[in-house]
Amino acid sequence: MNAEQKLKGQSALVTGANSGIGEAVAIAMGNAGANVVVNYVTHPEDADAVVKKIQDSGAKAIAIKADVSKEDEIQSMFQQMYAEFGTIDILVNNAGIQKDSPLESMSLEFWNWVINVNLTGQFLCSREAVKEFLKRGIIPERSCAAGKIICMSSVHQVIPWAGHVNYAASKGGIEMLMKSMAQELAPKKIRVNAIGPGAIKTPINRAAWETPEAAQKLLTLIPYQRIGDPEDIGKVAVWLASDDSDYLVGTTIFADGGMLLYPGFSTNG
Ligand code: NAD
Repeated sequence: MNAEQKLKGQSALVTGANSGIGEAVAIAMGNAGANVVVNYVTHPEDADAVVKKIQDSGAKAIAIKADVSKEDEIQSMFQQMYAEFGTIDILVNNAGIQKDSPLESMSLEFWNWVINVNLTGQFLCSREAVKEFLKRGIIPERSCAAGKIICMSSVHQVIPWAGHVNYAASKGGIEMLMKSMAQELAPKKIRVNAIGPGAIKTPINRAAWETPEAAQKLLTLIPYQRIGDPEDIGKVAVWLASDDSDYLVGTTIFADGGMLLYPGFSTNG
């Protein structure tokens, strides 16, 4: 078990936690002492493996199946979480997908799918968590906030992305969802912030790092010359959920190796 249990006694729900960034965030939160709900929608065996890793570190964890774009499934997931852990202190809106296509041939199905999972899913989960935060209020021995929400955004809330208009629009939407929720909820002592990852090695972008040629091309976009690991984001998420970041409200932390620094200009444009 980790010596510094910054989230001890708190309960966290991480959506899309059976893969990639969500998995690393769930494990990092468990290491920090939180009880963790590992949400998944497919591949229950992967969710069970994440649960086992968290339990092995000494924390409590359960896997709950729910599609974040379905209101009834989300409500039922939160009820299952309360039956198991009593409440929620930390929500990590992580689940996300890409369905790429040139604009002229992008189907409405692809547009809706990405917006429903990436954006509407964050709204639905946040609304459920906020109901509980407001009902329960602050428990000072656990945290000085009544609740914390972390929205997984992307550098693409800032950087336009040709061939991915649905994804970029969803991430731009997350920025204003996050900021508006933060403004509305801060007086109630609920902190809402976001993480904007750059290129992190996960299944969502396998084609961009799998071959040495693709990885080399990707590195031209990353001044720090390293593709990110999911654990890089797990560490940021634990800090954002802890009282160490208590004065952060409505902020996006970009963990991107400098991707937002316009690397194309590094040799004088
Ligand atoms: P991933 O494909 O490994 O993980 C995505 C997770 O979301 C999976 O667990 C998947 O099952 C889950 N998911 C998909 N649809 C769902 C639904 N309807 N309901 C519940 N869960 C669902 O990819 P990842 O890179 O770990 O992505 C996690 C988040 O990080 C996403 O929001 C993604 O946009 C964001 N992100 C990733 C990168 C990157 O470079 N990997 C960069 C910026 C942002």
